[in-house]
Amino acid sequence: MKIRTTIADLQKQIASYKENKQSIGFVPTMGALHEGHLSLMRRAKEEQDRLVVSIFVNPLQFGPGEDYDTYPRTIERDKELLKDVGADVLFLPSVNEMYPRPLHTSVTLKKGADVLCGKSRPGHFDGVLTVVLKLFQLVQPDVAYFGKKDAQQVAVIQNMVDDFHLPVTIVPCDTVREKDGLAVSSRNVRLTEKERKEAPHLYKSLELGLSLIKNGTKRTEELKEKMREYITQHTSGKIDYIDILTYPTLTELSQVEGTVILAVAVQFQQARLIDNVIVKIAVDKGEVTCIAL
Ligand code: AMP
Repeated sequence: MKIRTTIADLQKQIASYKENKQSIGFVPTMGALHEGHLSLMRRAKEEQDRLVVSIFVNPLQFGPGEDYDTYPRTIERDKELLKDVGADVLFLPSVNEMYPRPLHTSVTLKKGADVLCGKSRPGHFDGVLTVVLKLFQLVQPDVAYFGKKDAQQVAVIQNMVDDFHLPVTIVPCDTVREKDGLAVSSRNVRLTEKERKEAPHLYKSLELGLSLIKNGTKRTEELKEKMREYITQHTSGKIDYIDILTYPTLTELSQVEGTVILAVAVQFQQARLIDNVIVKIAVDKGEVTCIAL
């Protein structure tokens, strides 16, 4: 595996892949790699000639008081995992390499900034989109792989690709979970033992929402209230949001229909966790089914 820490060296490597007409699969990450990241990489590896991974904890996407300084950094272990998975290139730039001076221009999210994580983390997606645009320019991937765990992130990145005609295909990949249902996340290591036991209830609250929908509950307010009660009863965390929106447009709806996302975010002592499910609701002869997307 080649490790490239400068933009110039990365670009030389990318140019050689392009010259040889090799397709490039790209997985951008913030490191502290886990099975979720690795599943994206395995898929990219299978589908493309070359796998490029970036590890960059992007200061632009962290707000004041968020966990930029304490975000888990496990670079030596990450390198081993990347070798095992067969990554061709690790792009590992410093903050100074990516932002040698304050940016004169940046990407601003116009639609979708006022819901879910956009609402509770002002400016977060501007930072994500700006760094992803820079990374796409540098890596020039044919296909970029993102996790559905961060469903709003995939949606806004797809919208940016459409808005700016970026020549890359975005592939959303399924959420990898622990055996007890907890979505794998770099931040899970910061849960206390007690919180770790409670954390699977985030996913269980989503499952509760789905089972209520299947049993005929349609009103989103009622569904959200039941999910809220469930999380309050089963965890010590503070609910940041519980929402049910259309997908991928992320607009409010009073009754569930069509394709929807059920999403939750809960703040524990040292870790804010998010989870979601995206389902297509089908009604046949009065019977409701939720088809996972
Ligand atoms: P991050 O390092 O948190 O920025 O994540 C890098 C990529 O891995 C993003 O596209 C995430 O959505 C994806 N990812 C994170 N956790 C999971 C998971 N449990 N399952 C699938 N993909 C994930």
